[in-house]
Amino acid sequence: MAKREDIILKYADKRLPRYTSYPTAPNFSPSVTAADYETWLAALNPDEPISLYLHVPFCRDMCWYCGCNTKATRRTEPVEQFADSLLAEIDLIASLLPAQMKVSHVHWGGGSPTYLAPTRFTQLMDRLRARFDVTKDAEIAIEIDPRHMTPALAETYRAAGVARASLGVQTFEPRVQAAINRLQDAEMVSGAVDLLRAAGVAGLNFDLIYGLPFQTVDNCRASVREALRFSPDRLSVFGYAHVPHFKPHQKLIREADLPDASARLAQAIAIAEELETAGYVSIGLDHYAKADDSLAVAHARKRLHRNFQGYTTDNASAILGFGPSAIGWLPQGYVQNTPATAEWERRVLAGETPIARGCALTAQDRFRRDIIETLMCHLEADVAAISAKHGLAAPEPDLSSFLNEGIVAKENSTVRVHEDYRPLVRNVAAAFDAYLPASTAKHSVAV
Ligand code: SF4
Repeated sequence: MAKREDIILKYADKRLPRYTSYPTAPNFSPSVTAADYETWLAALNPDEPISLYLHVPFCRDMCWYCGCNTKATRRTEPVEQFADSLLAEIDLIASLLPAQMKVSHVHWGGGSPTYLAPTRFTQLMDRLRARFDVTKDAEIAIEIDPRHMTPALAETYRAAGVARASLGVQTFEPRVQAAINRLQDAEMVSGAVDLLRAAGVAGLNFDLIYGLPFQTVDNCRASVREALRFSPDRLSVFGYAHVPHFKPHQKLIREADLPDASARLAQAIAIAEELETAGYVSIGLDHYAKADDSLAVAHARKRLHRNFQGYTTDNASAILGFGPSAIGWLPQGYVQNTPATAEWERRVLAGETPIARGCALTAQDRFRRDIIETLMCHLEADVAAISAKHGLAAPEPDLSSFLNEGIVAKENSTVRVHEDYRPLVRNVAAAFDAYLPASTAKHSVAV
């Protein structure tokens, strides 16, 4: 029988979605308009809490591996102007809701939310609290660039009730950092961690990446060990997605310096080994958490969810997105704001809902989303039970090669991805994706 690594490599170069939504973003279209979003907002159930996502589309410097919607600038004026527009968008969207909605989660992402000055962040959180009923136990989370943390920001986050922070760490290896234009030594990360913990921001996540130029198994292991010195509650481990066609700044990364598929896989396996040996629980495709962390507890209780921020305990009935390119999710479907900051600002300041595209969900979409989300979260899905829940006939994708190679087992109507083949969970989920053939070029490789 072929070795596990050989089997994974057979499937590793397939370009696949990360399934943070279904249908995935490349399938969104302009047929969903601002008018649709306004109707969907007005129909939200005021008794059910919602979540908010706010996207800050600026960074001080561009990391060459970046796949986010952001722009590098050293000028503060555009960031200030953006903050004004974000205030206007909060007012606009809140005015379209049937009531002052309860909010159970607020997530600040980007780009770099740390680019917002303390006074601006406070003003924006105050505005959210004025327009929404942000509950006392709401989870407020923020993505942090450790290079730009300051005591004033930490104090601001504490006062605003931020409880979780996700730090972009990526790698501690200086040669790799130089090749991706992101120099941050362990002292910078240590300084950010100390400031956040001293301010009571207790839940810390570290983002790590493999597959970057000059990364090796040894320096990946060393980076994990260095990261573990800080005892983060969670880690997210991503494979670098090299798509210079879509992200032109990635052309600054020399392809000759990138590890090949076999080396990428060895790095992913080595990182998983280090984290599991240290007692972290593997969650889904790429997350790890301490056993007593709420993410691991939700995973154990099969209450985990997946959204645009990755794996989450958030079970709100809708997520409203703010800022350029932000994606929202409501019972009727997905909506995405226009990605260009200038156009987003123009529309918001004109009082227009700045939707560019979206996807209205069919019953079949909801059904397949349920199967795909369950597989992505728990590596298994009882297809007949989900089928009964939705009142639809179960899809019967061809899983024969996965079954023959031991990647998947079928037990009655449950499809289960073998633990050894966790890196291929996207491949198995993709078998249930009715849209995939049309959209593969826009995704990253599976491993
Ligand atoms: S800090 Fe994050 S969002 Fe900004 S350029 Fe670097 S990777 Fe991209």
